[in-house]
Amino acid sequence: MKENNDKIESEMSDNHISFTLSDEIKGSIHGDSFYVIMFTCGVCDNKLARKFTKKAYHEGVVIIRCDSCDNNHLISDNLGWFEDKPINI
Ligand SMILES: [Zn+2]
Repeated sequence: MKENNDKIESEMSDNHISFTLSDEIKGSIHGDSFYVIMFTCGVCDNKLARKFTKKAYHEGVVIIRCDSCDNNHLISDNLGWFEDKPINI
């Protein structure tokens, strides 16, 4: 994973996904800032886009389910639901 100011790109071969994470265009009316993820499912090669709060990514758990093959892909787990230690891919 490489990370610069507002964009994270990651390839997780063991999680069967690749994704690009970007800041959403500014101007949220709710005060929360969001990430937009462009996501390719490595199981069925489906491409999809999702949005979630930065708070969820950095402090919570983010799971994306592929529309096509119903696989659940773990994007971040800061609460240790799936691992003994917090991870953030
Ligand atoms: Zn899929």
